Amino acid sequence: METDMTLADDLWFTPSQCFIGGRWQDPLSGETLPLEDPSSGETIAQIARCQQADVDAAVVAAGAAMAGDWGRATAAERGRVLARLGALVLENAEVLARLEATDVGKPLKQARADAQALARYLEFYAGAADKLTGETIPYLDGYTVYTLREPHGVTAHIVPWNYPMQIIGRSVGAALAAGNACVLKPAEEACLTALAFADLALKAGLPAGALNVVPGLGEEAGAALAAHPGVEHISFTGSVGVGSLIQAAAAKNIVPVTLELGGKSPQLVFDDADIDAALPFLVNAGVQNAGQTCSASSRILVQRGVYAQVLDRMAARYRELRVGPALADLDVGPLISARQKRIVEGFLKQGADLERAAEAQMVAEAPEGGHYVAPVLFARVAPGHVLARDEIFGPVQVVMPFDDEEEAVAIANGTDYGLVASVWSRDGARQMRLARRLRAGQVFVNNYGAGGGVELPFGGVGKSGHGREKGFEALYGFTRLKTVAARHG
Ligand code: NAD
Repeated sequence: METDMTLADDLWFTPSQCFIGGRWQDPLSGETLPLEDPSSGETIAQIARCQQADVDAAVVAAGAAMAGDWGRATAAERGRVLARLGALVLENAEVLARLEATDVGKPLKQARADAQALARYLEFYAGAADKLTGETIPYLDGYTVYTLREPHGVTAHIVPWNYPMQIIGRSVGAALAAGNACVLKPAEEACLTALAFADLALKAGLPAGALNVVPGLGEEAGAALAAHPGVEHISFTGSVGVGSLIQAAAAKNIVPVTLELGGKSPQLVFDDADIDAALPFLVNAGVQNAGQTCSASSRILVQRGVYAQVLDRMAARYRELRVGPALADLDVGPLISARQKRIVEGFLKQGADLERAAEAQMVAEAPEGGHYVAPVLFARVAPGHVLARDEIFGPVQVVMPFDDEEEAVAIANGTDYGLVASVWSRDGARQMRLARRLRAGQVFVNNYGAGGGVELPFGGVGKSGHGREKGFEALYGFTRLKTVAARHG
């Protein structure tokens, strides 16, 4: 569905400003960065280029919020303000979806789903805020021992460009519910919904300083935030390389860090699987958001008995996929940037000798300056090939045959990553066996992604990172435990 709205109609805030201490302001240097529409390659706005001084101010404002109104708010009050914010997100869902679609280059229907997910995170954490409890511990005679869950204090949230609304929801939503004050550094490639979110938070009555947003370059604003001595917890989603830098910065200040770094997630299709049910998931999980999804399924492992059938049917779906501008709301949009397009095309060159089972088609009206790569499906790729090993972060899937369960597990667990995995089989015992044996933070049985479930703890092993986001588990990560041992005789 095409929309007649322009970006200017949707920008009720000034995108070149940052949000610090409950106020919109220009970055102290007055400098800005161009923001690009990936569907056309055109500059659509200027955003703030925050640097060390702005980050300092944001951390001070967050610290003041902890020492002031926000730090004193009861859990019920925190829940109430998050509930109001969730309601405002729902009221503004369509505008938020258009902003996200334009900024990230994702089809409008996906951006609409992301806006709903943001609202769901806020609803979930609004309800959970006053249900986060400690426990009493039976101990020696004459003692009463209990635990308190306390917020870390100032938390840093460095988020990428692929799902800004969802990642802000799961990270900032949980941190605020647990009573922290947040400094959010959105990605320089896509930060409009982070700014919109800040303005909605202001309207919802979130006290000044509880949320601060400092857009800017990763190596400037991001690095300054990660290294800041006033930050007491870091939550990062992005690349392995930057994740490693963040962990090093956290190590220097001895603060906890949660890293969510992507993957090379497999789907295992056995001879006895319901192939009709599996097919949409096999393809969508690879091409959704043009493959720029941390939990994208880029490896499809198929048992030999159904290999030819699955490959043929996936290839047929690929040929039907239409690729074009985000607001045209087709199946696949552009990649985020010229740089990301170069990375993906570099991988495609490395697969030049592989069997191309199918390619999707670009629509004629896709603007020339947009960063489009038509999805490609490769067949019979050896598990050691770079396309079967490395995260591509583009719409590229490899289909690999296997003979038996042992081989399937060896291939599935054979990369440095371990974010999610799925098993398609009607055999209940096999489902249970593989759920245990697959190296991943989430395993799906006869589905993929489980609809995104904000309630479901999510995170990786190995190079996919560590720590868990989403669900109740995230609240534990955003608190530290204090043990109180009272000796009363
Ligand atoms: P990135 O890791 O460079 O950026 C993610 C966030 O970190 C952004 O906000 C960025 O500004 C910030 N950042 C960058 N350098 C920083 C630094 N030195 N210190 C602190 N913060 C810094 O990711 P990218 O360049 O946007 O994408 C590159 C690759 O990362 C992709 O090809 C993909 O493999 C991976 N990626 C993964 C996810 C995911 O969801 N796991 C998301 C985006 C990208």
